[in-house]
Amino acid sequence: METMPHRQLGNSGLSVSLFSFGSWVTFGKQMDIGSVKECLKYAFDHGVNFFDNAEVYAQGVSEELMMQGFRELGLHRNDIILTTKFFWGIENRINFKNTLNRKYLMQAIDGSLKRMKTDFVDVAYCHRYDPNTPIHEIVFAMDQMIRDGKALYWGTSEWPAIAIDMAYDFAVENGLHRPIVEQPQYNLIHRDKVEKEFKPLYEKMNLGLTTWSPLASGLLTGKYLNGIPEGSRASMKSMSYVKEEIENQENQKKAEKLSAISKKSGISMTHLALGWVALNPNVSTVILGASRLEQLKENLEVVSKMKMITELKKELDQI
Ligand code: NDP
Repeated sequence: METMPHRQLGNSGLSVSLFSFGSWVTFGKQMDIGSVKECLKYAFDHGVNFFDNAEVYAQGVSEELMMQGFRELGLHRNDIILTTKFFWGIENRINFKNTLNRKYLMQAIDGSLKRMKTDFVDVAYCHRYDPNTPIHEIVFAMDQMIRDGKALYWGTSEWPAIAIDMAYDFAVENGLHRPIVEQPQYNLIHRDKVEKEFKPLYEKMNLGLTTWSPLASGLLTGKYLNGIPEGSRASMKSMSYVKEEIENQENQKKAEKLSAISKKSGISMTHLALGWVALNPNVSTVILGASRLEQLKENLEVVSKMKMITELKKELDQI
């Protein structure tokens, strides 16, 4: 297998593997500690150094499992880039959910570090934008997290470009740590934010991107071309919005177009979809998801197909 390429994480000195691994829906729901460890080991052994997590994933259990896995595998904390994200909260009470207020953020990082039994995360994200908390309060709180040594960098996820721009300007003007990265959805179906909305920010602040759902929750593997298989993400009761996306006629048509390119080129739909995301130079790392080891193995094989996928880029762009 070819070696994993690395890219700079936005305007920072941190190098991240072009493909990384995340735990949404899977850790603590579809996967127990045994399969978590298998996947973490396989990913790490194949060059993945960036691992995506969030406070809200399995209500904190995902954070626990990921670090339990790394510890039991004997991996050193500094061998990995560990992340978490804050916004929804895991306590159903006022000021601790759906917010980025300082009170919530300062206790949320402490909770995450306690669950993960570590002193710091490498990247702390604001998981969504909160229009009710003033931008200066958010930036000061994220800066404080870094000054306290609890996070090394900070970023945003699914923020509007205008809010990222405001946060960046405020940080620069006040000598505070700047956001370096945004985490948007990016795949052959959802392209606008990355390709249009964030465009001015690549130039202005060298914004990095850690992109999510490269396979549109599995649709772009082709597994949903003939209905919804038992045990798949779209078959889960709690994932009804994913089911809607997958059954959407436009999206189905795009999956069919990808299937046609796959048949013609002999490269799997999965590899074409993953490789296409990585071809965008503004993407720092493509966060992979997998509910079992076989999927992760298959997905990481994309690294050795990048040259062939580059030649198909124009055709894939047409989808
Ligand atoms: P994908 O779009 O790649 O979907 C992954 C899912 O697709 C798997 O869990 C599995 O689901 C199915 N799948 C993956 N590979 C294969 C394969 N080779 N063959 C068949 N089925 C396959 O990514 P995710 O949506 O999981 O997103 C990746 C990561 O991004 C998350 O883990 C999380 O860390 C992050 N994320 C961040 C968000 C944010 O708001 N910041 C939002 C969402 C994700 P199954 O087997 O159950 O069908």
